[in-house]
Amino acid sequence: MDGQRMFELIEKLNFVRVSGTPGEEEAARILLQECEALGLDACIDPFPEQDGEIAETALEVTKPYHKVYEASALRRSASALGEARVIYAEDALPANLVDAEGAILIINTAAGRKNYEALLKARPLCILQGEGDALDDPNEMPLMGGMLRPTLTEKFDDQRLCVINLRKRDLLEMIVRGASEAKVKVVSRDVELTGRNVSAYIKGTQYPDEIIAFTAHMDSVPTSPGCYDNAAGSAVMLELARYFAAHPPKRSLRFIWTGGEEKGLLGSKHYVSAHADELEKVCLCVNLDLAGSPAGHEFAIVTGPEALTHHVDMLVKEEGYAVETRTDTYSSDCLPFALKGVPALSLGRFGAPGMSYIHCNRDKLAYVSAPALDKTGRIALLIVSRLANAVMLPFERKVSDEMRKKVEDYMDQRAI
Ligand SMILES: [Zn+2]
Repeated sequence: MDGQRMFELIEKLNFVRVSGTPGEEEAARILLQECEALGLDACIDPFPEQDGEIAETALEVTKPYHKVYEASALRRSASALGEARVIYAEDALPANLVDAEGAILIINTAAGRKNYEALLKARPLCILQGEGDALDDPNEMPLMGGMLRPTLTEKFDDQRLCVINLRKRDLLEMIVRGASEAKVKVVSRDVELTGRNVSAYIKGTQYPDEIIAFTAHMDSVPTSPGCYDNAAGSAVMLELARYFAAHPPKRSLRFIWTGGEEKGLLGSKHYVSAHADELEKVCLCVNLDLAGSPAGHEFAIVTGPEALTHHVDMLVKEEGYAVETRTDTYSSDCLPFALKGVPALSLGRFGAPGMSYIHCNRDKLAYVSAPALDKTGRIALLIVSRLANAVMLPFERKVSDEMRKKVEDYMDQRAI
């Protein structure tokens, strides 16, 4: 495992890679080329994505002061046009929404699974929600917008709200200055995009019908080059693929650089539904998401049997590695596998607070390092080479009903 080589791959992937856009397509091309250079049997596996386009967002406060604010409607929002009362609806509790019909509602938190039904019933013209932090420098942090996910709206017969993101400093200013009337215009339309996974395969020498699947998402969120989350995990996975291409293991290995993770695990959902025949042979999903943060600590989270957690914990302790090991859900591509009964092991490195960033334009090359990548790579190789070559796997291919319920609840709450 070579941290410097992993770092160099992150340099190559150091651009915004939103799923369904040319950025992700370019990332897929680079990763495919890397796989082919290793002599791997690799391909690009496309899938459809429900998305949207915002042709225009305009927001102008007209009372008691005049000001035009920079605003960005969520893709797949309802369109909206009009001048209306502005109501500060705090956390959208019932008493906040009594007189909200036709109004422009400012809310503290994002429109999501918990409040969506109440907001729909209130029938506002639109919702204003904040993005980032009130201390963000507008020149340094572009507005991202985002998307009303189909997995959220489909729970409500695809009824759409019009949701507009503002900088939190602007939202705070509207609250402080008592904005009471505003003009709004949002022009939105649905589009279908193509996301993609890059997939590579190494056939096992002794148990070819037992497969370990690896996942690492290559996509990022808008405005973010996603170096730590997750060009780094993609690089660790390529390094594992390189090792196993030269040292074929007993079990077969499937490597999937997924697209659309940031849009709701789209690539991994596609893999588990489109490759049901292969999935029956998959005994473990190893997910690599977050790595390379110079300040941080390693983790190994098992969404599956306790026996696997104990096995991993023992292995890393034997080698003297400090790794946070537990049995839990992990918000990434491992979850669609766990829901299909495939145990998952998420490996990576959590960045120390205030010294690493995700899901914003601060997630950049300056905050990843070769030695940190090297460390995650060595620990991942220790664990997966033992599992890929074990005479018997030290755990059952089973996800308990309790864990499955935990995963379902988690995904439901976040509308994944
Ligand atoms: Zn991630």
